[in-house]
Amino acid sequence: MDRIQMKTPLVEMDGDEMTRILWAEIKKELLEPFIDLKTEYYDLGLPEREKTQDQVTVDSAEATKKYGVAVKCATITPNAQRVEEYKLSQMWKSPNGTIRAILDGTVFRAPIMVKGVSPVVKNWKKPITIARHAYGDVYKNSELCPKTPGKAELVFTDSQGNETRQTIFDFTGPGVLQGQYNTDKSITSFAHSCFQYALDTRQNLWFATKDTISKQYDHRFKDIFQEVFEAAYKAKFEKAGIEYFYTLIDDAVARVIRSEGGFIWACKNYDGDVMSDMVSTAFGSLAMMTSVLVSPDGNYEYEAAHGTVTRHYYKYLKGEETSTNPMATIFAWTGALRKRGELDGIPSLGEFAGKLERACIETIESGVMTKDLAGLWEGETPARAVNSLDFLKAVRERLEIFHPKG
Ligand code: NAP
Ligand code: MG
Repeated sequence: MDRIQMKTPLVEMDGDEMTRILWAEIKKELLEPFIDLKTEYYDLGLPEREKTQDQVTVDSAEATKKYGVAVKCATITPNAQRVEEYKLSQMWKSPNGTIRAILDGTVFRAPIMVKGVSPVVKNWKKPITIARHAYGDVYKNSELCPKTPGKAELVFTDSQGNETRQTIFDFTGPGVLQGQYNTDKSITSFAHSCFQYALDTRQNLWFATKDTISKQYDHRFKDIFQEVFEAAYKAKFEKAGIEYFYTLIDDAVARVIRSEGGFIWACKNYDGDVMSDMVSTAFGSLAMMTSVLVSPDGNYEYEAAHGTVTRHYYKYLKGEETSTNPMATIFAWTGALRKRGELDGIPSLGEFAGKLERACIETIESGVMTKDLAGLWEGETPARAVNSLDFLKAVRERLEIFHPKG
């Protein structure tokens, strides 16, 4: 077979440490032999971010707006120790935060399921995708701890200078106090991203808040979702045979546990933060969790949900063998290639993505896997824990059965 030709480049965002090593190997072993890979390359590795004063991150996000699809390697978010280690001129912000601020949108996280590594919740048969609203609420709060008795008020001054005032509480002693907000604009784009992603993946969409208690704040989320749904998606959902379903968060939690999976669960910011950790842990491993940022105007950025796996990288630097799981990073590539194929009308790209995913999953199901999964393995054949490169080679062999090379 000839290598598959691409029309539009993928925006390629390289990263740091162990995932950077895997990134190059994945391209070399699993992509370039089969695809005439077109990418516009941005090096988001920390040395290059320092060199360009983080301009490279901004440029890569702008390129994503231009081309529509990006694939990102995990990157270091600097802290004080990293400033020292990399001799940074400042503590650069999280690249994901910078990219999200430019693209806007919602992060969808979904587990990769394989037979032999079963979810803790035994009736979960299909992946559960969490869609987290990544703006506002408690993450942008103002808070204080009054030390004396006093009155706490909620005051809103409109642009004409008119005040609306409400007593929050008359404190008779010390206590705690917090103010938070969100905007119709952000909630609306969150809703669009969720409905759009549900259509893209043909899955039902669930959304839940605490609107019975938060009769204005949470209720506003519920209303906006309903308005957006009716105005722009109801007919499309019917046509696709999927449904939108709103319920109270307490009810959602119970239903999620009793469900067999296979839907998208849209969550407010805090709920999504907490629930995505719970759901990903219950599915097995962070190394098997994919993540995609979908912007309201239809741009996509695919990545693994885990970090740069620093501990393995230091072993690698010492020349020791590492068994780092490349699954989520491979699936970031397949997600991006499939989307690129869809947008450019190149079905062979999507088909290749499907074959590569199948080769990965079947390799694990045959008992060959990295150490992290071997520890969770319950399959019939005993697990053979291999290093990262041997795992990639095993996937390559299987891939060539599905997709013979020229
Ligand atoms: P991490 O890189 O996700 O790794 C935490 C631990 O989880 C690892 O030490 C390893 O456990 C296990 N693990 C994660 N991914 C794995 C994989 N693919 N294969 C096998 N095991 C895996 O998180 P971190 O150590 O907290 O963060 C490291 C760096 O990544 C930080 O600089 C952070 O800023 C960055 N980070 C980036 C992103 C992103 O770009 N999206 C996300 C999170 C963190 P064992 O050591 O027990 O084997
Ligand atoms: Mg969290």
